[in-house]
Amino acid sequence: MLLIMLDEMADWRKTHYTRDITPELVNQEIVLAGWVRNFRDLGGLKFISIQDKYGERQITMKKGVVSEEVFEKAKVGYQYCIMVKGKVKAFDKAPGGIEIIPSEIKILNQTPEKLPIDMTGETISDLDLRLNNRALDLRSLRNQAIFEIRGEVLRGIRKFLFANDFTEMTTPKIIGSATEGGTELFPIMYFDREAFLTQSAQLYKEQLSGVYERVFEISPCFRAEKSRTKRHLCEIFVLDIEMGFADMSDILKILEELIHNVIKDIRNNKMDALKFLKMEDKTTVPEIPFPRYTYEEILETIEKKCGLTIEFGEDISTEAYRAIGKVPGYTGYYYITHWPMSIKPFYIMPSKDPKYSESFDLQMGWLELTSGGTRVHNKEQLTAALEAKGLNSEAFESHLKTFAFGMPPHAGVGLGIARWVTFLCGLEDIREAVMYPRTPDRLTP
Ligand code: ATP
Ligand code: MN
Repeated sequence: MLLIMLDEMADWRKTHYTRDITPELVNQEIVLAGWVRNFRDLGGLKFISIQDKYGERQITMKKGVVSEEVFEKAKVGYQYCIMVKGKVKAFDKAPGGIEIIPSEIKILNQTPEKLPIDMTGETISDLDLRLNNRALDLRSLRNQAIFEIRGEVLRGIRKFLFANDFTEMTTPKIIGSATEGGTELFPIMYFDREAFLTQSAQLYKEQLSGVYERVFEISPCFRAEKSRTKRHLCEIFVLDIEMGFADMSDILKILEELIHNVIKDIRNNKMDALKFLKMEDKTTVPEIPFPRYTYEEILETIEKKCGLTIEFGEDISTEAYRAIGKVPGYTGYYYITHWPMSIKPFYIMPSKDPKYSESFDLQMGWLELTSGGTRVHNKEQLTAALEAKGLNSEAFESHLKTFAFGMPPHAGVGLGIARWVTFLCGLEDIREAVMYPRTPDRLTP
């Protein structure tokens, strides 16, 4: 391969992002830096569309108007990394109503003639192919929109929770024993001992609700499930919330307020991204309170409206969720409360009738977004519950101990960020909602 001389950045620095080049800057000299999204050569006229993390602007080179050197230099390929110095000119047919007339161009890096995926936005390449070339793929305008929305989700969650007296915690991701039993854990070597990657922040957030009263964390959890669905990953980013001096009813309330507020923020701050994804009429601010149905009511509806039978104590199948997700009243956000105690983890509080539990899921149509509930805060009751689930209370000794130190009644919830982003952006596959997804089949990039 011929070694091509690349330009040096030297003392050039980006003066503006593309989105900041507005008509007020007409006639000003600016420096843009980014990648070639598209280019056209019409003989005496050349165009380059330069993109950066916020969007794109058009560079226009007319023979005779720009210098001979610049005109020659404008031989670029898709996704070349370039810098452009030039003057801003108003031109209503160009993106943002602006074009740049360059006085100098630097080519900082090149690409092969044929890129592995389409970067012009004309077609969407196969998802696996895109994931194999993810750093390139993430530069697409579609991915920019998805991750702008994801960023706003994370910002909006923090904003809302800080305004409501929550403390952000950080809990260990390497743990010595299982959270909810030995299943679904990735074992690792911790020096000469076995340890695990955490599957949830559950036990730590409960402990910290007895310290900071209202706590949250947004952090990775690891699920060693060999499920190849469009809604499961092996590494997930979860919002965990726990509140002391509270029960399930308080969580139902704060969670629906959070969702309402975050979607408001998305619509206020990221409407362009929503429009790009054609979600502006679908991702609307949901009315609160959300509809609440008990597990038994849901089984009845599934039977009556969808003709499917689920026995009490069974999980609701994907088929049943998909069917009920089409029934009016169940297409948006709704709660399913009071699940059978038999299918809930040991730390969940049984209801007055212990056949039921003080637990809930939040659904978005057919998709589960969160699980939560009131927790057991009495040490003896918790120890008994552990053993009733066939777990060894000795393995939980360090956790159980904290319950002897004045643990308040508490409740909480866990929300899968990628599930929510999938829904908010109208994506087909959860792998599109994370930068580098981990699945049973994918460990790189
Ligand atoms: P599901 O029944 O859908 O497999 P779950 O009930 O096992 O989920 P929880 O333990 O309740 O999941 O986890 C809390 C939240 O984290 C879920 O409501 C979901 O939004 C998200 N979540 C759980 N497992 C996964 C996964 N493997 N991939 C993506 N998101 C997940
Ligand atoms: Mn769940």
